[in-house]
Amino acid sequence: MTSPTRPASAAASTEIVPPGGRWSGRLEAGDRLRITDIEGQQAVDFLCYGADMPLDRMNLPNTIKLNKSLYVTRGCRIYSDHARVLFTVEEDSCGYHDTLAGCCSNESNKLRYDVDTTASCRANFIAELSKWGLGPSEIVSNINFFMRVPFKEDGHVVIADGISKAGDHVVLKAERPVLAVLSNCPQEHNPAAGGKPTPIEVEVIRAASL
Ligand SMILES: [Zn+2]
Repeated sequence: MTSPTRPASAAASTEIVPPGGRWSGRLEAGDRLRITDIEGQQAVDFLCYGADMPLDRMNLPNTIKLNKSLYVTRGCRIYSDHARVLFTVEEDSCGYHDTLAGCCSNESNKLRYDVDTTASCRANFIAELSKWGLGPSEIVSNINFFMRVPFKEDGHVVIADGISKAGDHVVLKAERPVLAVLSNCPQEHNPAAGGKPTPIEVEVIRAASL
């Protein structure tokens, strides 16, 4: 599949991540990561780390405070524990990405829906992080691209139907060497994946090829 706005020749790699699948990769400063919600309403759980300093993890409280926004969208920067900029959100055709709800897990699915599952974003994160020598304790609160979690003034929070349309995408520009990890959410028990998980496209565009 070709990128909607970039010529395929500019891409270093393009991968279709199936429903419930996972992906990780290292990007250098200036590289872009483009994530496309191919069919719409598909949550993509996302973690990132400073690749030259792996314990410098994405930090959502820093990201929320420094962007003055609970939602991540175009122009936002994704900050680390040490308040270093890991990514800048360069493009966003959806406009709404969650920082509150974190990832699904087998344990929370049991409590919330009384189901026994083996597929979850937490399980995906654990499997993908192990490729880089990182353990479960390095999982932090994550961004949920294309997932909508509105809240009320009294603090009430719900996972609502996503508003992403087929082909919606974000482009993240790496501001330093980073490790990016994502889970294409397998959740079938709430609207995070529209009740029916679908594939996404992940494209890495190397700075040298632009
Ligand atoms: Zn999930």
